[in-house]
Amino acid sequence: MNSRIRSDVTVIGLGLMGRALAGALLRAGHSTAVWNRTAVKAEELLPHGALLSDTANDAVEASSVTITCVSDYQSLQQILASVTDELDGRLLVNLTSGDSAQAREMAGWVRQRGADYLDGAIMAIPSAIGSAEAVVLLSGSKVVFEKHQPVLDTLGTAVYLGEDHGLSALYDAAGLTMMWGILNAWLHGVALLGTAGVDAADYTPFAAQMAHGTVGWLTGYAEQVDSGTHRPDDATLTTHAGGMAHLIEESERLGVNSELPRLFKALVDRAITAGHAGNSYAALIGQFTPKSTAA
Ligand code: NAP
Repeated sequence: MNSRIRSDVTVIGLGLMGRALAGALLRAGHSTAVWNRTAVKAEELLPHGALLSDTANDAVEASSVTITCVSDYQSLQQILASVTDELDGRLLVNLTSGDSAQAREMAGWVRQRGADYLDGAIMAIPSAIGSAEAVVLLSGSKVVFEKHQPVLDTLGTAVYLGEDHGLSALYDAAGLTMMWGILNAWLHGVALLGTAGVDAADYTPFAAQMAHGTVGWLTGYAEQVDSGTHRPDDATLTTHAGGMAHLIEESERLGVNSELPRLFKALVDRAITAGHAGNSYAALIGQFTPKSTAA
């Protein structure tokens, strides 16, 4: 180990994801310093040229750019607790998962130490890192992002979201709610069709067609949400509520879990009570926004 390493990039955190990040940087030809609490995890990277630092402080000092990727912010704070002057004039790119408040707080902490900060979220599994398929969301200073984009692009497709450091975490969360929304709806459909002996594989092409069709409505609904006008160009909330009642009845008659359609109907019923019976589905936004801004 060496405390006087000089390198292009540093990676702190060599779990499954951190090792993939360091590996991609090394393959792209960047000299890469690494540090991990459990040093043995660096071993597989050493034959590829990784430079193992003795301490996190040394690792930060080794490069003008440090990428951190550990379990959570609490772990990151423990690692960075003793790192102060070393950050001055450098860039910290934090790819540790967390929420928007943690990202903004970390941005302030890093700024106080004279460093730049980009907060990121990785929308990929470790094996995809280094390929275009691996989307890495980043937020913070645009100037800083553009200056360092060549190195960030070696991790995957680096997508810049905006100056607010909380944006990466918020997009990450919004992506997860899309994912689980689709997966749970698909599973509910699989269970419904399963009562008639239809395999998941046979049902799935139709499910995918429905999902694609629904995605096609989003741009129009987004315009309605942004403008606050919820014209019922397709169907009113009253019509949707009727369909949901049938879905609940069908599910319960067949013994299929009806929690999901019950949730859908509870949201629509509340919007109808709030005066949106004749509006489009976009009027449901008021059921999701913070109470202070709810329509
Ligand atoms: P992991 O394999 O469990 O690695 C966790 C890393 O955090 C290790 O380097 C570990 O060090 C370090 N760590 C944990 N607590 C620590 C502490 N108190 N002090 C110092 N180091 C500590 O997890 P991972 O899959 O690499 O995930 C890392 C981050 O990437 C997470 O925020 C995760 O949400 C995010 N992410 C992962 C994936 C994925 O598919 N894996 C996808 C997207 C995002 P030790 O080795 O010493 O334990």
